[in-house]
Amino acid sequence: MPRTAIWIALPVLVALLGMPPAGAGQRSPVVVLDPGHDLRANAATEPIGPGSSTRKIKDGGGTHGLVTGLREAELNLRVALRLRPLLERAGVRVVLTRTRTVGTSMGNIARARIANRAHAGLFLRIHADGSTDRTARGTHTLYPALTRGWTDDVYAASRRAARTVQSELVRALRFPDRGLQERADFTGFNWADVPVVLAELGFMTNPTEDRLLATAAYQRRAAIGLCRGTLRFLGRRPAACR
Ligand SMILES: [Zn+2]
Repeated sequence: MPRTAIWIALPVLVALLGMPPAGAGQRSPVVVLDPGHDLRANAATEPIGPGSSTRKIKDGGGTHGLVTGLREAELNLRVALRLRPLLERAGVRVVLTRTRTVGTSMGNIARARIANRAHAGLFLRIHADGSTDRTARGTHTLYPALTRGWTDDVYAASRRAARTVQSELVRALRFPDRGLQERADFTGFNWADVPVVLAELGFMTNPTEDRLLATAAYQRRAAIGLCRGTLRFLGRRPAACR
């Protein structure tokens, strides 16, 4: 090849290599899915927000099914793994904080940092609830309370996301609607620099919800509800969630 041809071909090659894969589109939003907990709890502590002297345990380990014995960490992961392809088919890039239930929980600052580094359009944390009262049941969605210096940059968008996620989750699962809850004490919220919500799908300590959430059909329902709520928040058509 003549030298001039190389000088022309080289920048073209570099440009081609740097292009996103077909269909990815440079403006595709990123959603970080955070299946709560892991195989083992983490008793180490971490500050509840940047610069805070208040520390909380990294991970108490989560709950488990009263009847089925299913671990919350495993349920959260199954729903996240069902949700990922739904979002990807809708043109959303998906990052998971974990893809297996095998280790000690990384803690909540680490989870938030994954979402921050990905510049997530939404940091979606997936959990299920537990209570000493086995009649307690229903779905609720948590989002950060307004704390100056910590969440003022993400408060309004998080609250908006919590509304769409909660309404679509309730529609999909048909569990009682426990509404939204603001939390000032969640480490994973206070360290997030991107909109963040935490969905509590239902109560694993309630025999009815435990049995249902342990089924593939209800894990799929949860994934569809989370997908629809996420896409509505991102201003995309929720009909893509199938
Ligand atoms: Zn949990």
